[in-house]
Amino acid sequence: MSKGKISILGAGLVGSLLSILLKKRGYDVTLFERRSDMRKAGGIGGRSINLALSQRGLKALDLAGIKDTIQESCIPMPGRMIHDQQGNLDFQPYGKEGQYINSVSRGGLNELLISQAEEHGVDVRFDHKCIDVDFGSATATFENGQSISADYLFGADGAFSSLRAALQKTDRFDYSQMYISAGYKELSMPATPEGDFAMDPGALHIWPRGEFMLIALPNLDKSFTCTLFFPFEGETSFASIKTPEDVAQFFATTFPDALPFLPHLKEEFFENPTSSLITVKCYPWVKENTALIGDAAHAIVPFYGQGMNAGFEDCYVFDQLLDKHDSINADMLEEYQQLRKPDGDAIADLALYNFIEMRDKVADDKFLLQKKIEKKLNQLYPDQWMPLYSMVTFSNYRYSEAIARGNKQQAIMDEVLSRPGIEANWEGLDFDSIISKLN
Ligand SMILES: Cc1cc2nc3c(=O)[nH]c(=O)nc-3n(C[C@H](O)[C@H](O)[C@H](O)COP(=O)(O)OP(=O)(O)OC[C@H]3O[C@@H](n4cnc5c(N)ncnc54)[C@H](O)[C@@H]3O)c2cc1C
Repeated sequence: MSKGKISILGAGLVGSLLSILLKKRGYDVTLFERRSDMRKAGGIGGRSINLALSQRGLKALDLAGIKDTIQESCIPMPGRMIHDQQGNLDFQPYGKEGQYINSVSRGGLNELLISQAEEHGVDVRFDHKCIDVDFGSATATFENGQSISADYLFGADGAFSSLRAALQKTDRFDYSQMYISAGYKELSMPATPEGDFAMDPGALHIWPRGEFMLIALPNLDKSFTCTLFFPFEGETSFASIKTPEDVAQFFATTFPDALPFLPHLKEEFFENPTSSLITVKCYPWVKENTALIGDAAHAIVPFYGQGMNAGFEDCYVFDQLLDKHDSINADMLEEYQQLRKPDGDAIADLALYNFIEMRDKVADDKFLLQKKIEKKLNQLYPDQWMPLYSMVTFSNYRYSEAIARGNKQQAIMDEVLSRPGIEANWEGLDFDSIISKLN
């Protein structure tokens, strides 16, 4: 006996996972995707793009029974490797011994989720672009002229969601969007001619350069996918680099140790797209028999590596609420949006802040000293002090709680770091009295 009919817009990462969880709960689920089947289309121009998958995402994938399968194709990254302008390296662990984030192929993960959805009996319909929604009858109208109704409809159709576009036309719907002044471009670092990784695969590599940065995550085929986060306009920007010679010159002086491993740089810099980075906040996420989830509800910039993880956590929370409410209903949807909205806002703010940390602060002596002191505090009082990065990445604290605790901890650290001679004397700090300031 079906528990009801569900339509989900978007067979991206979040929509596909949600479809599996709802199917497992006994719903009759149809997943509508604008694009053609990516398993036949062969990826984005053959480029491999990867993402950092961490605790929140893994716990949701576990619910769907696919955590172990995914982890087999992940590369663990226990820390960041900082490259300075002279090519010196500094490895900074992300957390404690044994903690790591995972580099995973976006395409591979999405394909696996779609295949799993089909195996569970989800009806996946490609080439279905939703262009309008009726909230009460949960009806989606598609570009091909079809209109399909359900008991509930979910918009998992990403940062430019069609369900959200329909909501924007309704009364008292709050909406804001903000682009940052930097965009990004992906560049490939292939395996060496000997078939090895060009750099240590056990790290997320960062070349922090103040106003901009280059990062690189490893792929299973021993290549790295590099991403240049760079201003659109200005003295040093996408606009100011005009010729292949400009690119080569810029990389030679700014990222000298990366340049030898970027054989296609001159072509890729001009052929690969330059993409923008948006933060979207909106509310309510629920209207009548429809609801937003994932990037459709909270698109964030990628600097905490949490967009997908946050969307997967939405699915996890949704599933938990089904335990409590037994079935999808108005009370359950209300509780979902009230629980998740503060967390969506919190991770959006954290992600914007982390751009500054990644491109700038990771190379700063005070930042490194803070990391050492926080590590000690966490060793001595693991239940009371956890660095913000660890709360976000390795714990299940709500994002809103992590940001509140993180702010409190940062105020204490700012005072400690302002003490004269702290660089030389930090090991002699009275850690008990620091902890007592938390209360
Ligand atoms: C450069 C970059 C790096 C990132 N790195 C990380 C990272 O390391 N870790 C992390 O956790 N997150 C990362 N993210 C964020 C992550 O990519 C997103 O949060 C995640 O993809 C959101 O999943 P989603 O399913 O909600 O949306 P999407 O992945 O955008 O999927 C939406 C789906 O809906 C479909 N669709 C759109 N419109 C319609 C329509 N009208 N009708 C039907 N279907 C439609 C789309 O084709 C797509 O398949 C990164 C993002 C960027 C840009």
